[in-house]
Amino acid sequence: MSRTALGMPAVRPVHGHGRLHTAVPFPEAAEAELGNTQMRANIRHATHTIRGKRARVVEELPDWEELRSAGSAIKEQVMAHLPELLEQFEANVTARGGTVHWARDAEEANRIITGLVQATGSTDVIKIKSMATQEIALDDHLEAHGITATETDLAELIVQLGHDRPSHILVPAIHKNRHEIRDIFLEQMPETDESLTAEPRDLAEAARKHLREKFLSTSVAISGANFGVAETGTLTVVESEGNGRMCLTLPETLITVMGIEKIVPTFEDLEVFLQLLPRSSTGERMNPYTSMWTGVTPGDGPQDVHVVLLDNGRSAVLSDPKGRSALHCIRCSACLNVCPVYEQAGGHAYGSTYPGPIGAILSPQLTGITSEQNASLPYASSLCGACYDVCPVKINIPEILVHLRDEDVRTQHGERSDDGAAAAPARTRRTPKAPSQMDLLMKGASFVMSSGRRMALAEKGLPLGRVVAGKDRAISWLPGVVGGWTDERDIPAPPRESFRNWWAGHAGETDQRLAADGAAGPADVPHDRPGDAQPVDAPHDRPEEDR
Ligand code: SF4
Repeated sequence: MSRTALGMPAVRPVHGHGRLHTAVPFPEAAEAELGNTQMRANIRHATHTIRGKRARVVEELPDWEELRSAGSAIKEQVMAHLPELLEQFEANVTARGGTVHWARDAEEANRIITGLVQATGSTDVIKIKSMATQEIALDDHLEAHGITATETDLAELIVQLGHDRPSHILVPAIHKNRHEIRDIFLEQMPETDESLTAEPRDLAEAARKHLREKFLSTSVAISGANFGVAETGTLTVVESEGNGRMCLTLPETLITVMGIEKIVPTFEDLEVFLQLLPRSSTGERMNPYTSMWTGVTPGDGPQDVHVVLLDNGRSAVLSDPKGRSALHCIRCSACLNVCPVYEQAGGHAYGSTYPGPIGAILSPQLTGITSEQNASLPYASSLCGACYDVCPVKINIPEILVHLRDEDVRTQHGERSDDGAAAAPARTRRTPKAPSQMDLLMKGASFVMSSGRRMALAEKGLPLGRVVAGKDRAISWLPGVVGGWTDERDIPAPPRESFRNWWAGHAGETDQRLAADGAAGPADVPHDRPGDAQPVDAPHDRPEEDR
């Protein structure tokens, strides 16, 4: 007889697919990218320029911190009411003549979009820069079905013509300098004159000429969306070049792919985000082109309007209370521009559509930390916190990184998470690994450090460290997994005596001094008096070689 399960049926999270990882995990990919000095110089120059602009325009706003708090609060509200808001959005888009489609994952979204394009009879589409369509690898799917997609954003066009991958959320070709871009244009745009210079104005003009014909002759456009307003059904795209405005107004059919987390409750909420986004992304006070449309306007713009609402792992992220604020992201890229790891490794090393600090917390959650390729991403950080400081919606990225590291360790060993839930469904869990040298080392350290008596015993081994260090007072080789440390730097010789031992011998003196000073009054406590700050025979007052 089969067993009957009692209670509510468990809902397994459905994770995302698409361009959310490559076959090469971050450590190997980053090591290879570190050798690309040209790429690193390009990224350093570009990110430092943008971060300087951002800092200047943010400083101008006296209520910047209040705006950040408001943005964060609106996103909290969205996550708490996401199902209702999405249904409200669908009802309003439909009432105004648009059609809403729901896509569980990348495959479903690609199938829906390809079917919509095929229904128009067109074999060409023009595209506005969109992270969601990158995430689902839409261009590849369209190409496989005989449909040519042309990117109209300048940086996306450079990436597409160069058969490359984007490496930054906002500036996808940030890893290319203008001389490299000139070479791509000459090679891939046959109408371009050999006399093309590497001046930005000339490069932009060459791209404009190349795209003009496409804008005028293509009847289907595909866009992403920065925001969708639940109370009105309005979609919003913010961009800097005007190519988006052309795509949104000239074609007959407009298909918009929007992640379900991009909903905001009211039109008024846009006021907050339209101040936060341009300052955080391009360092501008106001966005050059902000386009909004609500369903179909008879006789004006596209008459066949579709919205594809994309989940692709977002519901799984939402189900984790500690990690879900990654869905608050408004894709400004400020965290990338301040990240020391991104600056050195570049965007390609992250293997996902989402690079940098936001990628390190979003990609592993979308695919599930059980994905071997993305499990190393939460470690791609020094936890310096610069990303948290600049995030316009106050996502605590370092905290989520630590949470995901914890999840990763638990998942590797098939353990449960803090709240008692299994770290991952059994069918997706990585094969539990045998404890590594590092695991054993950490368990040993935990055992010793959790007991004062064991710690005191371990400290008796300090003289051995001094013997190993020898006359140089430095340990330059260690065996096994701890040898990774001495591969890069020496360990100073340990002191003759541990602090605990020293304290045990001097605690009585301190009591005497406190008693004497107590008679003199609280204003004369020892650390307020120069010369009394440290006992003369404290370990750090010993000769240099003992440190
Ligand atoms: S995490 Fe914050 S700083 Fe980074 S891209 Fe998203 S909104 Fe911008």
